[in-house]
Amino acid sequence: MKAPMNDYLTELLDICGEDDGAVADYIPELAQADPDRLAVAIATLDGQVYSAGDADVEFSIQSISKPFTYALAITDLGLEGVLERIDVEPSGDAFNEISLEPSTGRPRNPMINAGAIAAHALVEGGDAPKRFERILELYSRLAGRELSVDEGVFESELDTADRNMAIAYMLKTVGTLEDDPADVVRGYTRQCAVSVTVEDLARMAATLAANGMSPDGTRVLEPAVTRQVLSVMATCGMYDAAGDWLTTVGIPAKSGVAGGLIGVLPGQVGIAVFSPRLDQHGNSSRGVRVFERLSADMGLHLMEAPESARSVVRTPRVRDDGEPSVHELAGDLRFVESERVLRGLEAEPEGDGVVVLDLHRVHRVHDVARRMLLEGVRRLRIDGHEVRLVDPDGLLPDPDVDVSEPGDDTPRDGYVPQVFDSLDEALAASGG
Ligand code: GLU
Repeated sequence: MKAPMNDYLTELLDICGEDDGAVADYIPELAQADPDRLAVAIATLDGQVYSAGDADVEFSIQSISKPFTYALAITDLGLEGVLERIDVEPSGDAFNEISLEPSTGRPRNPMINAGAIAAHALVEGGDAPKRFERILELYSRLAGRELSVDEGVFESELDTADRNMAIAYMLKTVGTLEDDPADVVRGYTRQCAVSVTVEDLARMAATLAANGMSPDGTRVLEPAVTRQVLSVMATCGMYDAAGDWLTTVGIPAKSGVAGGLIGVLPGQVGIAVFSPRLDQHGNSSRGVRVFERLSADMGLHLMEAPESARSVVRTPRVRDDGEPSVHELAGDLRFVESERVLRGLEAEPEGDGVVVLDLHRVHRVHDVARRMLLEGVRRLRIDGHEVRLVDPDGLLPDPDVDVSEPGDDTPRDGYVPQVFDSLDEALAASGG
Protein backbone atom coordinates (compact mmCIF):
# COMPACT_ATOMS: atom_id res chain seq x y z
CA MET A 1 0.00 0.00 0.00
CA LYS A 2 1.21 3.51 -0.77
CA ALA A 3 1.52 5.61 2.41
CA PRO A 4 -1.64 7.76 2.60
CA MET A 5 -0.03 10.08 5.15
CA ASN A 6 2.58 11.37 2.68
CA ASP A 7 -0.09 11.95 0.04
CA TYR A 8 -2.22 13.81 2.54
CA LEU A 9 0.71 16.07 3.44
CA THR A 10 1.47 16.77 -0.23
CA GLU A 11 -2.15 17.72 -0.77
CA LEU A 12 -2.07 19.89 2.31
CA LEU A 13 0.82 21.90 0.89
CA ASP A 14 -0.99 22.22 -2.45
CA ILE A 15 -4.08 23.71 -0.90
CA CYS A 16 -2.51 26.00 1.66
CA GLY A 17 -2.98 28.89 -0.71
CA GLU A 18 -1.08 31.85 -2.09
CA ASP A 19 1.91 32.98 -0.16
CA ASP A 20 2.00 36.47 1.27
CA GLY A 21 4.16 38.36 3.73
CA ALA A 22 7.91 38.86 3.44
CA VAL A 23 11.08 37.09 4.52
CA ALA A 24 12.81 38.50 7.60
CA ASP A 25 15.55 40.88 6.52
CA TYR A 26 16.84 42.28 9.80
CA ILE A 27 19.34 39.41 9.71
CA PRO A 28 20.92 40.03 6.25
CA GLU A 29 21.59 36.34 5.56
CA LEU A 30 17.90 35.46 6.07
CA ALA A 31 16.95 37.93 3.33
CA GLN A 32 18.83 35.65 0.90
CA ALA A 33 16.50 32.70 1.62
CA ASP A 34 14.45 31.29 -1.24
CA PRO A 35 11.01 32.59 -0.23
CA ASP A 36 9.12 29.87 -2.08
CA ARG A 37 10.36 26.93 -0.08
CA LEU A 38 7.60 24.97 1.57
CA ALA A 39 7.75 21.79 3.66
CA VAL A 40 5.83 19.95 6.34
CA ALA A 41 6.67 16.96 8.56
CA ILE A 42 4.83 14.98 11.21
CA ALA A 43 6.65 12.72 13.66
CA THR A 44 4.91 10.12 15.79
CA LEU A 45 6.07 9.23 19.27
CA ASP A 46 7.43 5.89 18.10
CA GLY A 47 9.71 7.53 15.57
CA GLN A 48 7.77 7.42 12.30
CA VAL A 49 8.25 10.61 10.27
CA TYR A 50 6.06 11.66 7.33
CA SER A 51 6.96 14.66 5.23
CA ALA A 52 6.24 16.50 2.01
CA GLY A 53 7.67 19.40 0.01
CA ASP A 54 11.20 20.70 0.60
CA ALA A 55 11.72 18.38 3.52
CA ASP A 56 15.49 18.12 3.10
CA VAL A 57 16.15 21.86 2.88
CA GLU A 58 18.01 23.20 5.90
CA PHE A 59 17.24 26.53 7.51
CA SER A 60 18.20 28.15 10.80
CA ILE A 61 16.18 27.16 13.84
CA GLN A 62 16.03 30.73 15.21
CA SER A 63 13.44 31.20 17.97
CA ILE A 64 12.31 27.59 17.79
CA SER A 65 15.47 26.95 19.81
CA LYS A 66 14.04 28.89 22.74
CA PRO A 67 11.79 26.20 24.28
CA PHE A 68 14.58 23.62 24.12
CA THR A 69 17.16 25.84 25.79
CA TYR A 70 14.56 26.78 28.41
CA ALA A 71 14.12 23.04 29.04
CA LEU A 72 17.85 22.64 29.58
CA ALA A 73 18.00 25.64 31.93
CA ILE A 74 15.20 24.11 34.05
CA THR A 75 16.95 20.73 34.01
CA ASP A 76 20.16 22.36 35.25
CA LEU A 77 18.84 24.86 37.75
CA GLY A 78 15.42 23.53 38.76
CA LEU A 79 12.13 25.18 37.96
CA GLU A 80 12.10 27.44 40.99
CA GLY A 81 15.52 28.87 40.24
CA VAL A 82 14.52 29.61 36.67
CA LEU A 83 11.18 31.15 37.68
CA GLU A 84 13.00 33.51 40.03
CA ARG A 85 14.74 34.94 36.98
CA ILE A 86 12.26 34.50 34.10
CA ASP A 87 8.48 34.84 34.39
CA VAL A 88 5.89 32.90 32.35
CA GLU A 89 3.38 35.61 31.43
CA PRO A 90 2.53 36.38 27.79
CA SER A 91 3.93 39.81 27.02
CA GLY A 92 1.84 40.99 24.08
CA ASP A 93 5.01 42.85 23.05
CA ALA A 94 7.26 42.28 20.06
CA PHE A 95 9.73 39.41 20.47
CA ASN A 96 12.71 41.76 20.74
CA GLU A 97 11.17 44.34 23.08
CA ILE A 98 13.76 45.94 25.34
CA SER A 99 11.78 45.67 28.55
CA LEU A 100 11.47 43.78 31.81
CA GLU A 101 8.59 43.40 34.25
CA PRO A 102 8.64 46.69 36.16
CA SER A 103 7.83 45.10 39.53
CA THR A 104 10.30 42.20 39.48
CA GLY A 105 12.90 43.03 36.86
CA ARG A 106 12.35 39.64 35.22
CA PRO A 107 11.90 39.06 31.50
CA ARG A 108 8.20 38.35 30.97
CA ASN A 109 8.69 34.89 29.50
CA PRO A 110 11.37 32.67 27.95
CA MET A 111 9.94 32.90 24.41
CA ILE A 112 10.79 36.57 23.91
CA ASN A 113 14.42 37.47 23.38
CA ALA A 114 14.99 38.90 26.88
CA GLY A 115 13.81 35.67 28.49
CA ALA A 116 15.55 33.47 25.93
CA ILE A 117 18.89 35.24 26.38
CA ALA A 118 18.51 34.88 30.17
CA ALA A 119 17.62 31.17 29.77
CA HIS A 120 20.65 30.62 27.55
CA ALA A 121 22.90 32.06 30.24
CA LEU A 122 21.35 29.82 32.92
CA VAL A 123 22.49 26.66 31.13
CA GLU A 124 25.44 25.22 33.00
CA GLY A 125 28.72 24.71 31.26
CA GLY A 126 31.47 26.64 32.98
CA ASP A 127 32.34 28.76 29.97
CA ALA A 128 30.43 29.99 26.93
CA PRO A 129 31.73 27.40 24.39
CA LYS A 130 31.00 24.53 26.78
CA ARG A 131 27.52 25.88 27.41
CA PHE A 132 26.84 26.04 23.69
CA GLU A 133 28.20 22.54 23.25
CA ARG A 134 25.68 21.23 25.79
CA ILE A 135 22.85 23.08 24.05
CA LEU A 136 23.81 21.69 20.65
CA GLU A 137 24.12 18.23 22.14
CA LEU A 138 20.57 18.42 23.49
CA TYR A 139 19.16 19.64 20.17
CA SER A 140 21.02 16.82 18.38
CA ARG A 141 19.69 14.17 20.74
CA LEU A 142 16.18 15.49 20.23
CA ALA A 143 16.57 15.56 16.45
CA GLY A 144 18.16 12.12 16.35
CA ARG A 145 21.21 13.29 14.37
CA GLU A 146 24.21 15.54 14.86
CA LEU A 147 23.22 19.12 14.10
CA SER A 148 25.59 21.97 13.26
CA VAL A 149 25.67 25.75 13.06
CA ASP A 150 25.14 27.69 9.83
CA GLU A 151 28.19 29.92 10.24
CA GLY A 152 26.94 32.36 7.58
CA VAL A 153 23.71 32.99 9.45
CA PHE A 154 25.59 33.20 12.74
CA GLU A 155 28.09 35.82 11.54
CA SER A 156 25.39 37.77 9.78
CA GLU A 157 23.19 37.97 12.86
CA LEU A 158 26.06 38.70 15.22
CA ASP A 159 27.12 41.66 13.04
CA THR A 160 23.67 43.15 13.45
CA ALA A 161 22.82 41.99 16.98
CA ASP A 162 22.75 45.46 18.57
CA ARG A 163 19.25 45.03 19.89
CA ASN A 164 20.00 41.69 21.54
CA MET A 165 23.19 43.25 22.98
CA ALA A 166 21.07 46.02 24.47
CA ILE A 167 18.77 43.41 26.00
CA ALA A 168 21.71 41.46 27.45
CA TYR A 169 23.27 44.58 29.00
CA MET A 170 19.89 45.45 30.45
CA LEU A 171 19.73 41.94 31.99
CA LYS A 172 23.18 42.47 33.44
CA THR A 173 22.15 45.71 35.14
CA VAL A 174 19.35 43.94 37.04
CA GLY A 175 21.61 41.06 38.06
CA THR A 176 19.96 38.39 35.87
CA LEU A 177 23.14 37.91 33.85
CA GLU A 178 26.36 37.27 35.67
CA ASP A 179 28.45 36.57 32.58
CA ASP A 180 29.74 39.01 30.01
CA PRO A 181 26.65 40.12 28.01
CA ALA A 182 28.55 40.03 24.70
CA ASP A 183 29.56 36.40 25.32
CA VAL A 184 26.01 35.47 26.16
CA VAL A 185 24.62 37.10 23.00
CA ARG A 186 27.28 35.29 20.98
CA GLY A 187 26.16 31.96 22.43
CA TYR A 188 22.47 32.79 22.01
CA THR A 189 23.07 33.82 18.39
CA ARG A 190 24.86 30.51 17.71
CA GLN A 191 21.91 28.69 19.25
CA CYS A 192 19.57 30.49 16.82
CA ALA A 193 21.84 29.64 13.86
CA VAL A 194 21.64 25.87 14.28
CA SER A 195 20.63 24.34 10.93
CA VAL A 196 17.62 22.04 10.80
CA THR A 197 15.12 20.50 8.39
CA VAL A 198 11.39 20.14 9.05
CA GLU A 199 12.00 16.47 9.81
CA ASP A 200 14.53 17.38 12.51
CA LEU A 201 12.07 19.83 14.01
CA ALA A 202 9.18 17.36 13.90
CA ARG A 203 11.31 14.82 15.78
CA MET A 204 12.32 17.43 18.36
CA ALA A 205 8.66 18.37 18.81
CA ALA A 206 7.64 14.70 19.08
CA THR A 207 10.01 14.20 22.01
CA LEU A 208 8.28 17.07 23.80
CA ALA A 209 4.96 15.42 22.90
CA ALA A 210 6.23 12.18 24.46
CA ASN A 211 6.93 13.81 27.82
CA GLY A 212 10.64 13.94 27.03
CA MET A 213 11.04 10.32 25.93
CA SER A 214 12.76 9.70 22.58
CA PRO A 215 11.38 7.04 20.21
CA ASP A 216 14.09 4.56 21.25
CA GLY A 217 12.86 4.76 24.83
CA THR A 218 15.65 6.98 26.22
CA ARG A 219 14.62 9.77 28.54
CA VAL A 220 15.94 13.08 27.18
CA LEU A 221 13.90 15.48 29.33
CA GLU A 222 11.94 14.99 32.55
CA PRO A 223 8.13 15.03 32.25
CA ALA A 224 7.83 18.00 34.62
CA VAL A 225 10.22 19.95 32.39
CA THR A 226 8.30 19.20 29.18
CA ARG A 227 5.04 20.13 30.87
CA GLN A 228 6.47 23.52 31.81
CA VAL A 229 7.89 24.09 28.34
CA LEU A 230 4.64 23.14 26.58
CA SER A 231 2.61 25.37 28.88
CA VAL A 232 4.81 28.33 28.04
CA MET A 233 4.67 27.49 24.32
CA ALA A 234 0.88 27.41 24.52
CA THR A 235 0.66 30.86 26.07
CA CYS A 236 3.71 32.64 24.63
CA GLY A 237 5.00 30.66 21.66
CA MET A 238 3.55 32.62 18.77
CA TYR A 239 4.91 36.10 19.43
CA ASP A 240 2.07 38.57 19.90
CA ALA A 241 -0.42 36.32 18.05
CA ALA A 242 -0.45 33.68 20.79
CA GLY A 243 -4.12 34.14 21.71
CA ASP A 244 -5.28 34.04 18.12
CA TRP A 245 -3.22 30.90 17.54
CA LEU A 246 -4.43 29.05 20.62
CA THR A 247 -8.06 29.70 19.78
CA THR A 248 -7.84 28.77 16.09
CA VAL A 249 -5.15 26.05 16.01
CA GLY A 250 -5.09 25.01 19.65
CA ILE A 251 -1.63 23.39 19.71
CA PRO A 252 1.38 24.53 21.79
CA ALA A 253 3.77 25.94 19.22
CA LYS A 254 6.87 27.99 18.52
CA SER A 255 7.82 29.89 15.42
CA GLY A 256 11.13 31.30 14.22
CA VAL A 257 12.01 34.18 11.90
CA ALA A 258 13.60 31.89 9.31
CA GLY A 259 10.10 30.54 8.60
CA GLY A 260 10.08 27.41 10.73
CA LEU A 261 7.15 26.57 12.96
CA ILE A 262 6.68 23.61 15.33
CA GLY A 263 3.58 22.33 17.06
CA VAL A 264 3.42 19.76 19.84
CA LEU A 265 0.35 17.71 20.50
CA PRO A 266 0.97 16.14 23.91
CA GLY A 267 0.80 12.37 23.79
CA GLN A 268 0.26 12.35 20.02
CA VAL A 269 2.62 13.94 17.52
CA GLY A 270 5.23 16.60 16.76
CA ILE A 271 4.62 18.73 13.67
CA ALA A 272 6.88 21.13 11.78
CA VAL A 273 6.37 23.45 8.83
CA PHE A 274 8.82 25.62 6.89
CA SER A 275 7.94 28.54 4.65
CA PRO A 276 10.09 31.69 4.91
CA ARG A 277 7.61 34.50 4.24
CA LEU A 278 6.33 35.91 7.53
CA ASP A 279 3.05 37.57 8.45
CA GLN A 280 2.75 40.84 10.38
CA HIS A 281 3.39 39.01 13.67
CA GLY A 282 6.60 37.41 12.43
CA ASN A 283 5.10 33.93 12.04
CA SER A 284 5.45 31.90 8.85
CA SER A 285 2.47 32.97 6.81
CA ARG A 286 1.81 29.69 4.99
CA GLY A 287 3.02 27.79 8.05
CA VAL A 288 0.12 29.19 10.04
CA ARG A 289 -2.32 28.20 7.30
CA VAL A 290 -0.94 24.67 7.13
CA PHE A 291 -1.39 24.32 10.88
CA GLU A 292 -4.92 25.71 10.78
CA ARG A 293 -5.84 23.17 8.15
CA LEU A 294 -4.09 20.26 9.89
CA SER A 295 -5.73 21.07 13.19
CA ALA A 296 -9.19 21.18 11.60
CA ASP A 297 -8.70 18.08 9.39
CA MET A 298 -7.27 15.91 12.13
CA GLY A 299 -9.17 17.24 15.13
CA LEU A 300 -5.96 18.34 16.86
CA HIS A 301 -7.29 21.34 18.82
CA LEU A 302 -6.29 20.71 22.43
CA MET A 303 -9.38 22.30 23.88
CA GLU A 304 -11.67 19.94 22.02
CA ALA A 305 -12.80 17.65 24.80
CA PRO A 306 -12.01 13.98 24.26
CA GLU A 307 -14.74 11.38 24.17
CA SER A 308 -16.19 10.80 27.63
CA ALA A 309 -15.02 7.93 29.78
CA ARG A 310 -18.33 6.11 29.41
CA SER A 311 -16.94 3.30 27.31
CA VAL A 312 -14.13 2.58 29.73
CA VAL A 313 -16.16 0.96 32.45
CA ARG A 314 -18.66 -1.68 31.44
CA THR A 315 -21.83 -1.71 33.48
CA PRO A 316 -20.83 -3.78 36.51
CA ARG A 317 -22.49 -7.04 37.36
CA VAL A 318 -23.39 -6.37 40.98
CA ARG A 319 -24.75 -9.60 42.48
CA ASP A 320 -26.83 -10.25 45.56
CA ASP A 321 -27.11 -14.02 44.98
CA GLY A 322 -23.78 -15.02 46.40
CA GLU A 323 -22.06 -15.14 42.99
CA PRO A 324 -18.96 -12.97 42.47
CA SER A 325 -19.74 -9.54 41.02
CA VAL A 326 -17.48 -8.45 38.20
CA HIS A 327 -16.33 -4.91 37.36
CA GLU A 328 -14.73 -4.81 33.93
CA LEU A 329 -12.40 -1.90 33.17
CA ALA A 330 -10.77 -1.07 29.85
CA GLY A 331 -8.51 1.48 28.16
CA ASP A 332 -6.47 4.15 29.84
CA LEU A 333 -7.40 4.77 33.47
CA ARG A 334 -7.00 8.30 34.74
CA PHE A 335 -8.95 10.36 37.26
CA VAL A 336 -12.24 10.53 35.37
CA GLU A 337 -12.27 6.85 34.46
CA SER A 338 -11.40 5.82 38.01
CA GLU A 339 -14.18 7.97 39.41
CA ARG A 340 -16.58 5.89 37.30
CA VAL A 341 -15.06 2.70 38.60
CA LEU A 342 -15.46 3.86 42.19
CA ARG A 343 -19.05 4.80 41.47
CA GLY A 344 -19.63 1.24 40.29
CA LEU A 345 -18.01 -0.14 43.45
CA GLU A 346 -20.20 2.08 45.63
CA ALA A 347 -23.17 0.08 44.39
CA GLU A 348 -21.79 -3.04 46.10
CA PRO A 349 -23.84 -3.76 49.20
CA GLU A 350 -21.91 -4.51 52.40
CA GLY A 351 -21.22 -8.20 52.87
CA ASP A 352 -18.71 -10.95 52.35
CA GLY A 353 -19.36 -11.54 48.65
CA VAL A 354 -16.54 -11.78 46.13
CA VAL A 355 -15.86 -8.67 44.02
CA VAL A 356 -13.73 -9.11 40.90
CA LEU A 357 -11.97 -6.14 39.28
CA ASP A 358 -11.12 -7.20 35.76
CA LEU A 359 -8.27 -5.13 34.33
CA HIS A 360 -7.29 -7.40 31.49
CA ARG A 361 -8.44 -4.87 28.88
CA VAL A 362 -6.74 -1.92 30.56
CA HIS A 363 -3.72 -0.43 28.74
CA ARG A 364 -2.44 1.88 31.36
CA VAL A 365 -3.14 2.83 34.95
CA HIS A 366 -2.04 6.37 35.79
CA ASP A 367 -0.79 7.03 39.29
CA VAL A 368 -3.97 8.79 40.40
CA ALA A 369 -6.04 5.85 39.08
CA ARG A 370 -3.87 3.35 40.94
CA ARG A 371 -4.40 5.22 44.20
CA MET A 372 -8.13 5.50 43.61
CA LEU A 373 -8.53 1.83 42.71
CA LEU A 374 -6.53 0.66 45.70
CA GLU A 375 -8.67 2.86 47.95
CA GLY A 376 -11.71 1.19 46.42
CA VAL A 377 -10.22 -2.23 47.18
CA ARG A 378 -9.48 -1.13 50.74
CA ARG A 379 -13.05 0.01 51.30
CA LEU A 380 -14.52 -3.13 49.80
CA ARG A 381 -12.39 -5.08 52.23
CA ILE A 382 -13.60 -2.97 55.16
CA ASP A 383 -17.17 -3.78 54.07
CA GLY A 384 -16.32 -7.48 54.30
CA HIS A 385 -15.72 -8.38 50.64
CA GLU A 386 -13.08 -10.61 49.20
CA VAL A 387 -11.50 -8.78 46.27
CA ARG A 388 -9.94 -10.57 43.29
CA LEU A 389 -7.97 -8.76 40.61
CA VAL A 390 -7.66 -9.92 37.03
CA ASP A 391 -4.43 -8.18 36.15
CA PRO A 392 -2.32 -10.32 33.80
CA ASP A 393 0.07 -7.47 32.99
CA GLY A 394 0.61 -6.45 36.60
CA LEU A 395 -0.71 -2.92 36.03
CA LEU A 396 -1.64 -2.43 39.67
CA PRO A 397 1.77 -3.21 41.13
CA ASP A 398 2.06 -4.17 44.82
CA PRO A 399 -1.66 -4.10 45.52
CA ASP A 400 -1.21 -4.50 49.24
CA VAL A 401 -4.00 -2.81 51.05
CA ASP A 402 -3.68 -1.76 54.65
CA VAL A 403 -6.48 -3.76 56.28
CA SER A 404 -6.32 -7.30 57.45
CA GLU A 405 -9.76 -8.22 58.68
CA PRO A 406 -13.18 -7.63 57.23
CA GLY A 407 -14.99 -5.00 59.24
CA ASP A 408 -11.76 -3.65 60.71
CA ASP A 409 -10.75 -0.29 59.32
CA THR A 410 -7.64 0.08 61.46
CA PRO A 411 -4.83 0.45 58.95
CA ARG A 412 -2.60 -2.62 59.07
CA ASP A 413 -0.30 -4.28 56.59
CA GLY A 414 -1.24 -7.52 55.12
CA TYR A 415 -4.28 -7.71 52.89
CA VAL A 416 -3.21 -8.58 49.40
CA PRO A 417 -6.03 -9.18 46.95
CA GLN A 418 -5.48 -12.32 44.93
CA VAL A 419 -4.29 -11.57 41.40
CA PHE A 420 -5.33 -13.76 38.43
CA ASP A 421 -4.38 -13.94 34.77
CA SER A 422 -7.92 -14.38 33.48
CA LEU A 423 -11.49 -13.77 34.51
CA ASP A 424 -12.25 -17.50 34.32
CA GLU A 425 -9.49 -18.26 36.80
CA ALA A 426 -10.71 -15.52 39.13
CA LEU A 427 -14.27 -16.85 39.02
CA ALA A 428 -13.17 -20.45 39.52
CA ALA A 429 -10.92 -19.70 42.48
CA SER A 430 -12.02 -20.67 45.92
CA GLY A 431 -12.14 -18.10 48.70
CA GLY A 432 -8.87 -16.57 49.83
N1 GLU B 1 17.88 35.10 16.40
C1 GLU B 1 16.66 35.83 16.33
C2 GLU B 1 16.73 37.03 17.23
O1 GLU B 1 17.12 36.91 18.34
C3 GLU B 1 15.53 34.96 16.72
C4 GLU B 1 14.25 35.68 16.60
C5 GLU B 1 13.09 34.83 16.20
O2 GLU B 1 13.22 33.80 15.55
O3 GLU B 1 12.00 35.24 16.59
O4 GLU B 1 16.42 38.11 16.83
